[in-house]
Amino acid sequence: MSNWYSKTKTQTLRELETNEQQGLSEEIAKARLKKYGKNELVMKKKRTLGQRIFAQINDILVYVLLIAALISAFVGEWADASIIAVVVVLNAVIGIIQESKAEQALEALKKMATPKAIVKRDSELKEIPSENVVPGDIVLLDAGRYIPCDLRLLEAANLKIEESALTGESVPVDKDAAYNPSKKNCEKVPIGDQKNMAFMSTLVTYGRGVGVATQTGMHSQIGKIATLLHQADDETTPLQKSLAQVGKYLGFVSVAICIIMFFIGFFQGRDTLEMFMTAISLAVAAIPEGLPAIVSIVLAIGVQRMIKQNVIIRKLPAVEALGSVTIICSDKTGTLTQNKMTVTNFYSDCTYDALENLNVNNDVQRLLLENMVLCNDASYNSESQTGDPTEIALLVAGAAFDLQKDVLEKKHKRLSEFPFDSNRKMMSTLHEYEDSYFSMTKGAIDRLLPRCKHIFKDGIVQPLTESDKNEIVAAAQTMSTEALRVLSFAFKQYDNEHINIYEAEENLIFIGLVGMIDPPRLEVKAAIKECKKAGIRTVMITGDHKDTAFAIAKELGIAKKESEVIVGTQLDNLSDEQLANEINHLNVFARVSPEHKVKIVKALRAKGNIVSMTGDGVNDAPSLKQADVGVAMGITGTDVAKGAADMVLTDDNFSSIVKAVEEGRNIYHNIKKSILFLLSCNFGEIIALFLAILLGWATPLRPIHILWVNLITDTLPALSLGVDPEDPDVMKEKPRRVKESLFSGSIPFLILNGIIIGLITLIAFIVGAKLYTGDTNLFPLFPSKIAEDALLHAQTMAFVTLSFSQLVHSFNLRSRTKSIFSIGIFTNKYLVFSLLIGVCIQVCIISIPPLASIFGVHTLTVKDWGFVLLLSIVPLLINEIIKILKRQ
Ligand code: ADP
Ligand code: MG
Repeated sequence: MSNWYSKTKTQTLRELETNEQQGLSEEIAKARLKKYGKNELVMKKKRTLGQRIFAQINDILVYVLLIAALISAFVGEWADASIIAVVVVLNAVIGIIQESKAEQALEALKKMATPKAIVKRDSELKEIPSENVVPGDIVLLDAGRYIPCDLRLLEAANLKIEESALTGESVPVDKDAAYNPSKKNCEKVPIGDQKNMAFMSTLVTYGRGVGVATQTGMHSQIGKIATLLHQADDETTPLQKSLAQVGKYLGFVSVAICIIMFFIGFFQGRDTLEMFMTAISLAVAAIPEGLPAIVSIVLAIGVQRMIKQNVIIRKLPAVEALGSVTIICSDKTGTLTQNKMTVTNFYSDCTYDALENLNVNNDVQRLLLENMVLCNDASYNSESQTGDPTEIALLVAGAAFDLQKDVLEKKHKRLSEFPFDSNRKMMSTLHEYEDSYFSMTKGAIDRLLPRCKHIFKDGIVQPLTESDKNEIVAAAQTMSTEALRVLSFAFKQYDNEHINIYEAEENLIFIGLVGMIDPPRLEVKAAIKECKKAGIRTVMITGDHKDTAFAIAKELGIAKKESEVIVGTQLDNLSDEQLANEINHLNVFARVSPEHKVKIVKALRAKGNIVSMTGDGVNDAPSLKQADVGVAMGITGTDVAKGAADMVLTDDNFSSIVKAVEEGRNIYHNIKKSILFLLSCNFGEIIALFLAILLGWATPLRPIHILWVNLITDTLPALSLGVDPEDPDVMKEKPRRVKESLFSGSIPFLILNGIIIGLITLIAFIVGAKLYTGDTNLFPLFPSKIAEDALLHAQTMAFVTLSFSQLVHSFNLRSRTKSIFSIGIFTNKYLVFSLLIGVCIQVCIISIPPLASIFGVHTLTVKDWGFVLLLSIVPLLINEIIKILKRQ
């Protein structure tokens, strides 16, 4: 039933067999999880195996191959036909395995990023994965959190929920737990008006609330609207896109080459069938078939490796963008600092002192403590603590003076509240006090002090004078230059409880200040230094006071002079252009609101920077989206921020961003290595075939040989290059320009190595023919008429040389400047294994007779093998010589 909204709270709780105070017991929750199933939306259906196979087969290359197989079969070349079929099947199987591996990795990532819910179980608050929420659970809601399932609200304090996922309406709806539709209308209250309900996948933008889970998973309102669920993001990276482009282009080129060849062959009077098969060889050589699969698996492996560095990638394109980042904008609190706050100093009743010297018997100082504890949403006891570290610190301070929150709250019941938000930078709560009502306000001093008309001093409330103000500001100044975070406190008295936020936060009575220390994270300083070397500037963004921010920025090496600091109000006075012109000299943005962050990102991007921006709050979502790499905090971050971000830091640590940049650069390098490897190999094959045809020789490589090398023996080295160990110098390079083409600076390398591989393959072909026939004349290079078995021998030499030289060539890709001997041949074990496996496979094919006959290869003598090996290391030698020349 979905008319929960028409029931009373008691009725709802009774029907769901639950209790507001204790929640469900873990036992019952477990049983219900079994009964109702996981609380998750089953997104799209998994592709069936049949669909996966079809996706693999539905490819130009496969069609080309199938035609080749058919024709071979038609003319009775059964060996060729069957081996082509085997290769097609093998290729499809490898493709499916790689694809599902990559998919699994990404799926696991998505799981890691799914939101959590706070529920009451066995009278305790617990944070559990949303998928484990069951009907009857008592669920706590706060700003920035996704609603885990459909809920009947039991309590709502200024609760606003944005329900666009369900209703399409993007203006947040005010919720009211006490809402009671009249009996008559009960039947037809539309979802958008069910004010006492909250729905799965919608999102709290403001306030707090408590609700009881009514329906979960696919039974929820959103679960019923299946069509809304297919909102997959575009997950292809820029690299993959440009690769698809390159692939298309190469496809055309290969068709063109085939046509040209066909004509040449025709005028040379060659056999049509043979020409046809050679043309197919060329087509196979030109199409980089293995590339897309290899790129996606390398990305997936890289993304998995990043998890160990405390980084969860939510959007794949971010991996590449990371490698180009030129500016990292980081929140201060929690990211650059430890977010382990401790109150150290206070100022109240004209006394500035260390916290331990606070006098509880002084009325003013006692009220300061009471405010710290009452105007507070965190919870703290010796066993556990939850909430904002700033607020926990205040509770810890209160507890040191024996002021426990639960005890104090019993005495002074909280009647209403105006939650903290980072624009107001304040919060207030209303409490019962003996025979009147007190509102307690705390917040940033530059917001709160201007709203104070009075001060509580010497036991009486008196007008706030200029000299009072000066003294307060001076005390705050002293705290913030010592890098302390400053909070100010005020209150107000009423004779009734019906007040609103404007009343509560105007004409305040000042009580005092506290300063709390939040030490910088130890590893951050080194990380910032590393960024500098890598051509990346670090910028601090904080809601905190200017002096506090500058003191910490100086300590971390982010800023040197005060002129590098700007505050939010100054930002407001700058136009977008003015800001863009100044932005290169600004390293610390203090007292900013989330809206400023968007302005900052825009200005930085206008100057051509690639910007990474961190965020945690609801209002940070726009700036995270705007940034090239939006980074959300995994611990303190709200679901909204995580949803908008490209990546999530599971440890909230700045250093992890730097590690991610490093990893991003590395992944890009490695993908580039795989791509250049495969393309230079393919180019080598084209050269060998094309030259031989032009010169009127027999074809040096049969389609099956090329097919085998491209799809089987080359795949392993390409994958191994994709997981090449990190180059220690990767963070000494400047950031990669976004527009930079994949091939920039690599074209000569591609062409040169293609030519080398092509030429040595031809040399092996020529020598193979001459060795066999005993012909000692240099010319003609290749006989125009040659016996069948001599040709077989020559082709075998070419085939083995081609595959071996490519295996050896893979080592050239590891570095384009450093010698392979200085990097260490064995530092990439996978590559060494690939080489060994590749060699073994070739040796098997040549020396096991049934295989040899399928591949149409001839046995080789020791002398032949020796010659092949010598030729195969030529690419390595030439590249090493070039590297020596480059280094000089
Ligand atoms: P940041 O996280 O970058 O330090 P915030 O936006 O969280 O910045 O905080 C900005 C300012 O708001 C702080 O300097 C402090 O004065 C005030 N503030 C922070 N948290 C609270 C809170 N829970 N209640 C009242 N004021 C707060
Ligand atoms: Mg904060």
